[in-house]
Amino acid sequence: ILDTPIEYLKGVGPKKAAILNTELQIYTFGDLLDYFPFRYIDKTKVYPIGDISSETPTVQLKGKLYNIRTAGEQRATRLTATLGDDTGSIDLVWFKGIRYMRSTLKAGQEYLVFGKPRMFGYRFSISHPEMELVEENKEISYNNRLVAVYPTTEKLKNKYLDSKGIHKLMKQLFEKLQEQHLPENLPDYIKEDYKMISRWEAYQNIHFPQHEGMISKAQFRLKFEEFFFIQIQIIQMKLFQRQKYEGYVFPELGKNFHGFFKQLPFELTNAQKRVLREIRRDTMNGKQMNRLLQGDVGSGKTIVGLMTMLIALDSDFQACLMAPTEILAQQHFKSISKMLEGLDIRVDILTGSIKSKKARRQIHDKLELGMTKILIGTHALIEDSVKFKNLGMVIIDEQHRFGVAQRAKMWTKNTFPPHILVMTATPIPRTLAMTVYGDLDVSVIDELPPGRKPIQTFHYFESKRLYVFEFLKKEIAKGRQVYIVYPLINESETLDYKNLMDGYEAINRAFPLPKYKVSVVHGQMAAVDKEEEMLRFKNGETHIMVATTVIEVGVDVPNSSVMVIESAERFGLAQLHQLRGRVGRGAEQSFCILMTGKKLSEDGRTRMNTMVETNDGFRIAEVDMKLRGPGNMQGTQQSGVLNMKLADLTKDTKILNIARESAIGLLNEDPNMEQGENMRIKQYMRYAAAKKESKWSRIS
Ligand code: ADP
Ligand code: MG
Repeated sequence: ILDTPIEYLKGVGPKKAAILNTELQIYTFGDLLDYFPFRYIDKTKVYPIGDISSETPTVQLKGKLYNIRTAGEQRATRLTATLGDDTGSIDLVWFKGIRYMRSTLKAGQEYLVFGKPRMFGYRFSISHPEMELVEENKEISYNNRLVAVYPTTEKLKNKYLDSKGIHKLMKQLFEKLQEQHLPENLPDYIKEDYKMISRWEAYQNIHFPQHEGMISKAQFRLKFEEFFFIQIQIIQMKLFQRQKYEGYVFPELGKNFHGFFKQLPFELTNAQKRVLREIRRDTMNGKQMNRLLQGDVGSGKTIVGLMTMLIALDSDFQACLMAPTEILAQQHFKSISKMLEGLDIRVDILTGSIKSKKARRQIHDKLELGMTKILIGTHALIEDSVKFKNLGMVIIDEQHRFGVAQRAKMWTKNTFPPHILVMTATPIPRTLAMTVYGDLDVSVIDELPPGRKPIQTFHYFESKRLYVFEFLKKEIAKGRQVYIVYPLINESETLDYKNLMDGYEAINRAFPLPKYKVSVVHGQMAAVDKEEEMLRFKNGETHIMVATTVIEVGVDVPNSSVMVIESAERFGLAQLHQLRGRVGRGAEQSFCILMTGKKLSEDGRTRMNTMVETNDGFRIAEVDMKLRGPGNMQGTQQSGVLNMKLADLTKDTKILNIARESAIGLLNEDPNMEQGENMRIKQYMRYAAAKKESKWSRIS
C-alpha cells in the first residue's frame, strides 16, 4: 500500500498529485507518510477570554457567539461577531468569504475558536479564526487535539494544500493503514534497551499525537531509526574494507623520503609529525588506508601529502595527487617539482586542457612504463585510459569537490586498491564527520607553522570606506599586495559582473595610475587572460587584485597581506574563512576586512562576529553548521546520507551517539545481520534501497 501512487489517495487526484510530486517529492503513500510536521498546535486547552493580553500567542477560546453583522462598504466590507465567555469578550473579523461565513455562523451558539488575538483600538480581536461549532449535549473530547503543522509552499497553498490540507490527506492515509503495513524494522532488544515505542505507534503519534508525551517518544524513535540505518551502512562499509581490502605494505623508508626530509628548509610542526606517523602506521599493517586529513588553510597539508607520496615511492610504487581545478593542479605541479629539485624523481601533470592526442599518449605511456613516479592532475586522472604501472598512493586535495564514487574509482587502478589520503581545508564538526566520512579515519593538523601571525579581521560598514582605502594605501606603501573580492551570486551573472566592474572603476579612481596598478579577474574573461592577470599579480606587477570568488581555492601569493571582502554578508562562513586563508601565508601581519551594508540580518551579524573573533576553522565550522544546517555544509552535498527527514545533526547529537553505539555493538556481534530479529534490519534496508532507487528514477 505504501507504494501506491499518491494520486490515488482520496482527495488528491492528478492535479494535486503533480504539485505534491514537484514541490515535495511526494510520489507515493509512503512518501506522504514520511512527510513530517515541524511543530504542533496545542488545542488541548481552552483559554479564558479575560486573560488575553498583547503577549498571548495563538490560543483556543470557547464561548457564545453574538452580534454578527456586516460593516463597511465595498472593498472595506467586513464581517464581525463577538465571542463571550464568563470572563470577557473578544471580536472576530472576516475580510474574505463574508457571504459564506455569514450563512454558516449561528448566533447564540457555543463555538471553539482558534487564532491569534491582536489589539485593535481598545479591544482585542482575531481575524479569520478557525471556528468549530460545539454541538449541544455532546462532550468535547480534548484528546487528539494536538494538531500537527506541516511545512508548505505558496504553490501548494494555491491548491488548498496548506498545513490543514496536508493534515486532511494524512487522515485519509491513516484510514487505510494498519500496523501490518509498517512492520517493525528494529530488533526487540534494541527497542527495549531504549524503551522505544513501535514503528507503527511512532508514525501514528508523529502525525496524530495522543498527548504531549507521545510526541517526544515518536520523535525519538524515528530519529533514532534515521541515524541507526545510516550508521549501519557506514560501519558495515568500514568493517568490510578492513576485512576485505588488503593493502600494500611499504616496509621501510628510503632515499626519496630521507633525501627530501634532509633538504626541508624548516622543521615540521608537531601536528605534521603526528599525522605522518599515523600514515606510516597505516601503510605498514597490510590493510588499505582510507584517511581524511583535515587542517586549516596554510597548516601545511601539502608537505604532508608530498611526504606520504614519497613513502610509496620508497617501496617502488607510484603516487598521484588529484586537485579540484586546473589552476590548483598547475600550482601543485610547480611547487612540488620545485621542492623535489635535486632528487631524481619524475613528476608529470595531466589535466583536461591537454587536448593533443599525442601529448596525452606520451603522458600515458611514461606512466604505464613506470617512468613517471608522481602524477599530478585534475579528475582527468580518474579516466579509465589512465593506467599506472604500480599505483600505491592516491592523494586527493580539497575533498569537497570530489564525490564518494570518484574516490572509489581510484581503487580499481591497481590489483589491490591503493592507499588513499583525502586532504581538506574545510573542517567539519565531529558529529558531521562521523556521518559523512564515517568510513574514513580522520587525522587533524591543528597547529600552524611557527612565525605566522594570526590574521586580524575587522568588520566595517560602508561609511568607513575612505578609512579602509587609506589603510590599503599604507599597506601598499609597505610593499604589500591586496585582494578585493566581490560576491558571485548565481541568480544573475550580469548583475555580478556589473557589481564587480563598478567596484573596479571605483578602485581605479581611488588608486590611480601610475602610482597604483590594479588587476581584475572575473568569470567572463577567457581562461588565458585570467591566468595572465593572476600571474601579473603573483609576480608583484600589480598592487591590487579585484576578483570574484575564483581565487577562493588555491593560488598562493605570499606577499598579499590584505583581503577585503565586499558585501561580505552575502558569503557563507565556510567561504569567508576560505577567502581569508588566501592571506597570511608570509611572515607579515595580515588583515581581513569585511565590508557590509548597515542592515544585517541576525544571521549575517553572527557570521561577521564569528569571523572577527576566531581564526579556528573548527569553531567556524560548528557555528556554520548551527546557522545553516548540516545538509548545506560543504563536503556533504554529494554524500546523500544527509537527506535526513526528522533528525538534526546539530541538535540530536545524543541520539546520534546512541544510534551509533547500537549499530557498532550489533555489527560486532553479527556482521551480516542474519541472527534472529537482526534479519529485520537487513530486510528493511533492502526495501529502503529499492524504494530510493525507484524514487530517483522518477525524479530524473
Ligand atoms: P595547506 O595545503 O594546508 O593550505 P601548505 O602545505 O600549502 O598548506 O603550506 C602553506 C605554506 O607553509 C607553504 O608555503 C609551506 O611551504 C609552508 N610550510 C608548511 N609546513 C611548514 C612548517 N612546518 N614550517 C614552516 N613552513 C611550513
Ligand atoms: Mg593546500
